[in-house]
Amino acid sequence: MPMIDRNECAKRDCKDRLRHCRERFTLPEGIAYLDGNSLGPLPKSAPEAISKAVTSAWGEGLISSWNDAGWINLSADAGDMLAPLIGAKPGEVVFGDSTSVNLFKLAAGILGASEGRKKIITETTNFPTDGYILEGLIRLLGNHHELVRVEMEDVASAIDEDTALVVLTHVNYRTGAMYPLNKITAQCRALDIPLIWDFCHSAGAVPLDLEKDGVEYAIGCGYKYLNGGPGAPAFTYIRSNCQAAFEPALTGWFSHARPFAFETDYDPHQSIAKALVGTPPILSLVGLIEGLKTFEGVSIKSVREKSLALSDLFIELVNQELADQGFTIVTPSDHEVRGSQVSLVHEHGHAIMQYLIGQGFIGDYREPGILRFGLTPLYMRFTDVWDCIATLRDAMATGAWDKPEFHARKAVT
Ligand SMILES: *Cc1c(COP(=O)(O)O)cnc(C)c1O
Repeated sequence: MPMIDRNECAKRDCKDRLRHCRERFTLPEGIAYLDGNSLGPLPKSAPEAISKAVTSAWGEGLISSWNDAGWINLSADAGDMLAPLIGAKPGEVVFGDSTSVNLFKLAAGILGASEGRKKIITETTNFPTDGYILEGLIRLLGNHHELVRVEMEDVASAIDEDTALVVLTHVNYRTGAMYPLNKITAQCRALDIPLIWDFCHSAGAVPLDLEKDGVEYAIGCGYKYLNGGPGAPAFTYIRSNCQAAFEPALTGWFSHARPFAFETDYDPHQSIAKALVGTPPILSLVGLIEGLKTFEGVSIKSVREKSLALSDLFIELVNQELADQGFTIVTPSDHEVRGSQVSLVHEHGHAIMQYLIGQGFIGDYREPGILRFGLTPLYMRFTDVWDCIATLRDAMATGAWDKPEFHARKAVT
């Protein structure tokens, strides 16, 4: 295979059909942002939209903005904007609360109706908050359930008639490995076992077709690939034909059929509003909606094509430029099972990443020893990948990364 050089990467940038989307973001000069899998960058339209919501809708409209500025529908509107990106129908997705809280709401609602089955199955390397939430819920429900953590390849055989619930993350946050969604979903549906998918590293990153794949319950993040801003509300998906039977556990007034009738008795809404609890964070929703708009006119198919082209390039360049430097690529090479990031393991991963960040190549670090590079097609360039790897190559050759300041640990890695 011919060597790839910076020129070749620049040519790929010229041919990039998503090149125009970069203008939708405000990105600081002199950086390459490889961390959109952790916090998407600022949509150019967000400051004005948020500022208008503050000065005009809040400042002048005051309480009438719940009606006049459409605040009351924002959670559902944002959900309907996301729906086509994940293959859901209007009325199946709603935004509100964090992913952790949304998992609690779905799992508690499902387990409340689970009739004596004991096992809750999740995967050993799942994002820890999912396990924490499930353990807390099990305690709350009187320790009648058991959390079973298994390796991904053992999930299928662990599912049996004693399984009350399965909770899986579709794309692993550490390795970027993508799991067989339709196979496991079909298995659970055949056995009538509820399954919650966590799409934090999938929504806006890889094509999803929840309708076709028969997904019934899902949650996902607003601030990662969806560019919704720090602490953006997360989403909950409940398939339309599962909404009537779903019994909310957090029975707040926003899940009531008639919240503004102020009735004494609780009567759940028969729609996706069942996944709401209390008054939504309007200013955050306004930011989130600008994040969702960054996908306007872009097919998730073209996002996926460029994502794979970026990650292929990244992997090729690691092999070409960083051989014998102690890096191991832990992201699958097979497209079928690769999400939208590349992760490298190195024994000095933390310090090396701090050095890269200091040089303007912003990725992040996850234990143990993992350098994560998020690949986000709306604003990333092929030359960003080249520049990042070239900087890494030079740092490994000179030892520039091995300074005390790069070994210091901050609260957020
Ligand atoms: C980021 C992430 C979360 C985060 O949850 P929050 O409660 O929104 O902070 C949960 N699950 C996975 C798989 C994630 O990647």
